[in-house]
Amino acid sequence: MKAALYVVPTPIGNIGDMTLRSVEVLQAVDMIAAEDTRHSRTLLNHYEITTPVISFHEHSGESAAMALAERIVKGERIALISDAGTPLVSDPGYQLVRAVQAMGMPVVPLPGPCAAITALSAAGLPTHSFQFVGFLPAKQNARRTRLDALKSSDSTIILYEAPHRILDLLDDVEEVLGALREVCIARELTKTFETVRRDTVATIRDWVKGDANQQRGEFVVMIAPDTQKEEGVSDEASNLLHALADELPPRKAAQIVADHYGLKSRDLYQLLIDRE
Ligand code: SAM
Repeated sequence: MKAALYVVPTPIGNIGDMTLRSVEVLQAVDMIAAEDTRHSRTLLNHYEITTPVISFHEHSGESAAMALAERIVKGERIALISDAGTPLVSDPGYQLVRAVQAMGMPVVPLPGPCAAITALSAAGLPTHSFQFVGFLPAKQNARRTRLDALKSSDSTIILYEAPHRILDLLDDVEEVLGALREVCIARELTKTFETVRRDTVATIRDWVKGDANQQRGEFVVMIAPDTQKEEGVSDEASNLLHALADELPPRKAAQIVADHYGLKSRDLYQLLIDRE
């Protein structure tokens, strides 16, 4: 294995979700830079990984990143892991990756667990285009301003949220985007109490509010794109159009839906083209 920074995803709950390659790389490198060394110990012990571990977190700063990058220049192989999921995705590592690149050394990304992608794959929301936003601001005003800016997005929006703010977030989505906007909430993915539910934000909010268990754990909240833009096309027609377009050429899909619902084929075709 060459001298490089290896960016290694780790499980987001279920310890079995390590890839074989991730285990092999963590066993083979000279050192593991971990967000929280104590937290990672359980995982490393489980996979009998005895590689030395040092701490690298969001407050480690540029000089710590430079020091690690210099070790790679000298020939070391270093792996970066975070507490859960893919490093750099709402996690530390950005400065380190840049420092390593700046010194002309390779950064080798390994594929693996990520809460955002895991949630999206079970949401039943459009996936042809999605925007990962991560955590919204903690303060309500700033959070609402950000939601307002996302309101007319053509993409599915993916948010992370902490349990003590989940109800506030759902309240704000309802307030800013309207009670009927479809959302999907994915809680405790890969763990015992894994829950994925999609409905209007009003229904999801009431359900979470009415059940204290639904306010516990880790959350991904996904917001459906703004369908109001497809004026004059019912949700049913729109859903059929997009489903058919996954299997058929766009003109054919548009023609079938137009015939069925008495719509203009040209308008529906345009909707599909705009989606690309
Ligand atoms: N790097 C991680 C990744 O690849 O997903 C994300 C780290 S971020 C600090 C932690 C947030 O990710 C949590 O607050 C939650 O929003 C989301 N998350 C992590 N694990 C999760 C899980 N098992 N189920 C749902 N959301 C999760």
